[in-house]
Amino acid sequence: MAVIKKTPAEIEAMKEAGRLSAAVLREVGARCVPGASTLELDEFAEDYIRSHGGIPTFKGYGGFPGSICASINEQIVHGIPSPAVKLQSGDIISIDVGATVDGWAGDNAWTYAVGTISPEKKRLLEVTEKSMWAGISAARVGNRLGDIGHAVQSVAKKAGLGVVRDYTGHGIGRNMHEDPNVPNYGIRHTGMKLEAGMVLAIEPMLTLGTHKTHVMSDGWLVVTQDGKPAAHFEKTVAITEDGPILVSVEPDRERPI
Ligand code: MG
Repeated sequence: MAVIKKTPAEIEAMKEAGRLSAAVLREVGARCVPGASTLELDEFAEDYIRSHGGIPTFKGYGGFPGSICASINEQIVHGIPSPAVKLQSGDIISIDVGATVDGWAGDNAWTYAVGTISPEKKRLLEVTEKSMWAGISAARVGNRLGDIGHAVQSVAKKAGLGVVRDYTGHGIGRNMHEDPNVPNYGIRHTGMKLEAGMVLAIEPMLTLGTHKTHVMSDGWLVVTQDGKPAAHFEKTVAITEDGPILVSVEPDRERPI
C-alpha cells in the first residue's frame, strides 16, 4: 500500500478530529482516579465524542468493543474496558482513544498516574513522553523513517528502558491505520524518505523491563512478558516544509516542538 499524502487543506481538516481526540483524552485522563472502572471511562469517552460531533474510531474497529483502550500497569495496549477493572492508587493507566470527524481519524494516547505512583513508574512516564517528543521532532522533511525510530530508541536506551517492537506507530488519514508503519526503533538515515503531507501517529511504548510482549486469551490485550509496567504516549503529527505540526492537540495546549 502506498502512503497517502495530505494537502494543507486536508491537514487542517484532520485537526478537527485531532482536537476532539485530544480533548476527550484529557477529559478521560482527569477521571482516572481510584475506584473508577475502565468501563465508566469508556462510556464517558463515547458520550463525549458523540456529543461533540464525532464518532469513536476504535468502536468496532476489527471487532474491538470499546471506544478507548484502557491498559493498566504491565498491560501495554488494547485493554478492553470492563466494569470489573477498577483503578487503584499506584496504578498507571494507558488510555488510547480515537475520534473520527468529517471522515478523518484522530488518534492519541497518554499514560496517567492513578493516585500516588512509585518513583520508578514516574520515571517510566517521564521518559516515555520524552521519547515521543524526540520522535516527533525527527518527523521532518529530509529525514527518513529510521530517524524517528532512532530518536525514540535513543531516549529509551539512555534511561535503560525497554522499547516494544511488536507494535508501531502508523500513517493516519481517512483510515486510522495507513502506511507506513512507524517503528520505535531504527537506524539513522535509513528507511522511507519523509515528505511533506505525510501524517503519522508516533507512539512509543516503553517498559521497565523486557520489550517482549504477549497477547492474552481475549485476543486483544497485550502485556509485557515479564509483568513489568509499560507506558504509551501518542500524538498525530503532520510533516510539512515548515517542520512537524501537531494534529492531535487542542489549540490552547500546543507546545513548540
Ligand atoms: Mg495509534
